[in-house]
Amino acid sequence: MEFKSNIKKVEILIPPDFRPETQRIEYREDPLTGSKCLINIKRAQRAKQAQLATAVSDSITEGTKEGCFFCPEHIENETPKFPADICAAGRLKKGECTVFPNLFAFSEYHAVATLSRAHFLDLNQFTPQMLVDNMMACQEWMIAVHSQNKHAKWPIYIWNHMPPSGASMVHPHVQSLVREAPTAMQEHMLAKSWEHLSSNGSSFWHELIREEKDIGERYIYSNDSLALIASYAPRGFREIQFIFNDVCSFTDLNETQMQDFAYAIVKVLEGYKQMGVGSFNLNMFSGPIGEKTDYYSLNAKMISRPFPQGVYSSDTGPFERLQDEWVIEFLPEDVAVKMRGFFEARD
Ligand SMILES: [Zn+2]
Repeated sequence: MEFKSNIKKVEILIPPDFRPETQRIEYREDPLTGSKCLINIKRAQRAKQAQLATAVSDSITEGTKEGCFFCPEHIENETPKFPADICAAGRLKKGECTVFPNLFAFSEYHAVATLSRAHFLDLNQFTPQMLVDNMMACQEWMIAVHSQNKHAKWPIYIWNHMPPSGASMVHPHVQSLVREAPTAMQEHMLAKSWEHLSSNGSSFWHELIREEKDIGERYIYSNDSLALIASYAPRGFREIQFIFNDVCSFTDLNETQMQDFAYAIVKVLEGYKQMGVGSFNLNMFSGPIGEKTDYYSLNAKMISRPFPQGVYSSDTGPFERLQDEWVIEFLPEDVAVKMRGFFEARD
């Protein structure tokens, strides 16, 4: 496995006395996908003129509650229902979670699943049980969809928290999709994983966990079900990768594996909260439903997003949107050191 890196130095004369300062720019490539990023940790120190908030304001939390479709007093009457062949009761329920169709779908099968009855939860207020109930309900829906349409075999599980992450609703919820075709990244990861097994005789994912544990710099934590690392070549700030040992598809997760996953997510969110994060994306990259693929391991990535407030500096500019190169402000090795602390402190 190759961790490609190219380090360049740039000299800048800094006012007021114009003394030279050397900044380090590191170009990295993801060892599986080849995705390119550049890291300059000095960028985290630049003045963000519109960025002031450190706590989510009442206007965002309370001000958006009135008329929220996902709140318990509206969810029954104001959210759509599935046809009976997918779900006899119209919606699936488990614990605080309700699963119902997305009114503005971008897939043939696209559901929304609430995480809590509460309209707003901060990053340190989610419980493992909320996540487990949500994942179980989503999984049940995905399996119901697949049993109706065998071509719909690509599950997607996405959690966008707060508007800077792309979420249009403040109320905690995930998106659950089943598609007939994989996303571009799902397809790319599976193809590259297959290539790796064919040419090396071993699973890329097993090798990645083993090597990251040996190197130690980006390794964070593992339990019986999965391992956590700070991604070598991130596509987002503070990117954490969750890699399952022996599961390929989201629909193959058992309850214990979901509990182990939920525990790790809650810990990372506690860490994010301590680091001043108020918005994030969690994306799962799943193999197909009902197909054993020994070359692929179910995995997820979590990235922090700008703090939710009226006006903020976006973390995504022309380099990310158009040049397909990810400009990163935090060194993965530093993220791992900080995040390990949160796992060690309370274990
Ligand atoms: Zn709500």
